[in-house]
Amino acid sequence: MSAQKLLVLGTGGTIAGSAATATGQSYAAGEISLDAMIADIRGLGLTVELVPKPIARIGSQDIGWEQWDALHGEIIAAQADPDIAGVIITHGTDTAEETAFLLDLTLDPGKPVVMVGAMRPADAVGSDGMRNLANAIRVASDPKAQDRGVMVVMGDTVFAASDVRKAATSNIDAFKGYPRGPIARVTPSSLDWFAPAHRVGSTARFQWPEALPRVAILTAGAGIDAMPVKALLGIGCKGIVIAGMGQGNAPRVVLDALAEAVRDGVPVVRSSRVDEGMVDRNVEVDDDAYVFVAARALGPAKSRILLMLLIASGVTDAKAVQAAFDGD
Ligand code: GLU
Repeated sequence: MSAQKLLVLGTGGTIAGSAATATGQSYAAGEISLDAMIADIRGLGLTVELVPKPIARIGSQDIGWEQWDALHGEIIAAQADPDIAGVIITHGTDTAEETAFLLDLTLDPGKPVVMVGAMRPADAVGSDGMRNLANAIRVASDPKAQDRGVMVVMGDTVFAASDVRKAATSNIDAFKGYPRGPIARVTPSSLDWFAPAHRVGSTARFQWPEALPRVAILTAGAGIDAMPVKALLGIGCKGIVIAGMGQGNAPRVVLDALAEAVRDGVPVVRSSRVDEGMVDRNVEVDDDAYVFVAARALGPAKSRILLMLLIASGVTDAKAVQAAFDGD
């Protein structure tokens, strides 16, 4: 029997990072080529066949439409290719949450799509990249990984795209899941699934758009006034996500300015700048009166992705946007 084939899409990040010294702190993301990484992982004697395809060599803070469009196109082609069993994306950790969620919302489940990164560059002492990549290979080639949507593998842990977020700047176990925690534990020699697939829908929730609209995240802080809202509207923002205090709160003057934005056809989603927790409707802010949307379990970064896709699909009505945030 021939070896399983996995497509590996490289985008850069710390997993392809190179340090000035093995013990220093400074390094450059995306320095190491995908071919070099694949050569290293082949040296581990894994039985899968890896098909490398470089997309970019960037820190993921610079990722955007161009790379997302390329990734989406490659994955659609891989899903249609009977020779390819699954897809791995090597990616910086800073925006892994955003790319994973965007792809999860726009791809059919089916073949596994596994995103993987690293917290330490490839040549730093105690580097986690090769282990994470070996773990990602194990997940992407497992039959039980089918139909779970996009997953993120970091620190011997597997998360669903809808839950995952980066929760620490430099620890090896930097990723957390909310509202659901890890769905599996993985090592290069073991894989234990302990949560069923919980992806919404059996097909892609959104068509791949032709472009993504400008949607901004505005972080609320004590004492801010309405000027940032007016500035965002002035540069043509098509949607605003507020990373509010607590349950998605903001000073009254800010809420009033956001209500004006809604009246001008700009949907407003209230999420929280707090790490975890639900933002529900009409708790302290009267969403019904303001015609705001509550982000529910989604944090600001994921809220922005979902709102961009909704607006790109022509959905701006607050009730319809709320239904999407409710997971319907
Ligand atoms: N900022 C870079 C990125 O997100 C490096 C961080 C990382 O990959 O861990 O690509």
